[in-house]
Amino acid sequence: MLNTVLGRDQSVGKKILVATTNPGKIAELRAMLDLDVQWVGLSDFAGIGEIKEDGASFAENARKKATEYAKATGLCTIADDSGLVVDELGGAPGIKSARFSGKKEKGEDRTLIDHRNIAKVLRFLEGVPKEKRTARFVCCLCLASPEKVLVETQGTVEGLIAEEEIGENGFGYDPIFFVPHLNKTVGQLTAEEKNAISHRGNAIRKLKPLLAQLLKTL
Ligand code: IMP
Repeated sequence: MLNTVLGRDQSVGKKILVATTNPGKIAELRAMLDLDVQWVGLSDFAGIGEIKEDGASFAENARKKATEYAKATGLCTIADDSGLVVDELGGAPGIKSARFSGKKEKGEDRTLIDHRNIAKVLRFLEGVPKEKRTARFVCCLCLASPEKVLVETQGTVEGLIAEEEIGENGFGYDPIFFVPHLNKTVGQLTAEEKNAISHRGNAIRKLKPLLAQLLKTL
């Protein structure tokens, strides 16, 4: 039964859809989970519609995407939602992290550092002392079959919002997210260093044993 649910093809490992068109995210999951699974992305499904991220939390958005894409494709699906939570801003930008400074232009590259969003966060935090600049990146992952939610995990990384951009690596808000124990912003980390501490890395590391266990029950 679960064989069908997980989209088993006898010639390959079980097929799991990653609800993204970003090949980088699929490669990251494949490498970090290192399981006998055939990974496919949304680009493998011509004409599949976009699902609106209109939930009230990261977890709700991840759950909605995973469940709806699983229903649309008949495949078990992993979806994520992530963003920056700043305590002094009541949790903003939160689920609006991607569009904090306004709607994205069509085709705008979300893999780049977002100087407009960063400028807005820095403006709101002007004059706020270091001890009140606490923040975290949060990543929620959800694996769902067409019938139900199978596994959910959350990863976080704690930090402080710097007073200016430092570093040119990463994307989004990385250059203003200062990690005290590394004495660096995420914008100063290599991809490997970021992955070792990141919200997304932590959420994937939590997912791995749960998914491995689930695959064994087939
Ligand atoms: P998504 O859910 O992964 O698309 O992330 C939504 C938004 O949150 C991104 O467009 C970024 O603005 C922000 N964000 C999420 N993860 C990171 C990160 O690792 N570094 C910087 N910004 C991030």
